[in-house]
Amino acid sequence: MKAVLASNNKHKLVEIKTMLSDKFQDIYTLADLSINVEIEENGNTFEENAYIKANTIAKLTGLPAIGDDSGICVSALNGEPNIYSARYAGEPCNDKNNNTKLLSKLHALENNGDKVDRTAYFQSVVVLCYPDGSFISGSGRTYGKIIDDYRGSNGFGYDPMFLSDELGKTFGEATMEEKNKISHRSRALKDLLGKMQNAF
Ligand code: IMP
Repeated sequence: MKAVLASNNKHKLVEIKTMLSDKFQDIYTLADLSINVEIEENGNTFEENAYIKANTIAKLTGLPAIGDDSGICVSALNGEPNIYSARYAGEPCNDKNNNTKLLSKLHALENNGDKVDRTAYFQSVVVLCYPDGSFISGSGRTYGKIIDDYRGSNGFGYDPMFLSDELGKTFGEATMEEKNKISHRSRALKDLLGKMQNAF
C-alpha cells in the first residue's frame, strides 16, 4: 500500500517513516510530491486536527494520507499547552520560545507558593484518511515530568525538558530508537496498524 505523510515537520517525518517502513510499500512526503500547502489546523481536538491534515492531503493527492497531531499536556497547567503546543509562544512556531514559556508559567506558579504538579504526557493522534474521506485513527500517550534544565540535543520540541518515566532520561538524551519504542507517536501508530488489520 502507498501512502503520503501529511506533515512538513522533518523530525516527525523521520520518526513516522522509520516506524511504518515495513508496513507500507511506498511512503511519500509532501516534498517528494512537490506539494507546498499551508493547512489551517482549526480543530478543537488532536483528533480533529489530525483528520483535517490527512483529509486535505488525501483529497489533493488521490492517495491515502497519514496525518499526525500531537502535543504535550502538563498537569499544573490544567493540561496546557495541549493542541496549541506548536504555537504556544505565538507565531512563528519556535521550539525555544515554547519551552521558555512553559517553564516560566511553572515558575510563576511556584513563586506564588502554589504546589506545582510537573507530571506531563505527550499525546499523539494519527489518522489514515482515504481520498473518499473515510478514515481510521489511532492514539497514544507517554508519561513523564517537566524538568527545569534542557538535557540532550536529540529530537525536537519539548524533548529536552521531558523526563520520561519509562526511559529515566529526557527524550532529548534518548536515541531515536529508544524514543520510538515508547513514544506517544509510536503508540498511536501501533494502535492505528492494529485497527487497519481488523479493517481489511
Ligand atoms: P503539530 O505539528 O501541530 O502536531 O504540533 C506538535 C507540537 O507538539 C510540536 O511542534 C512540538 O512542540 C510538540 N510535540 C509533539 N510531539 C513531540 C515530540 O515527540 N517531542 C517534542 N515535542 C513534541
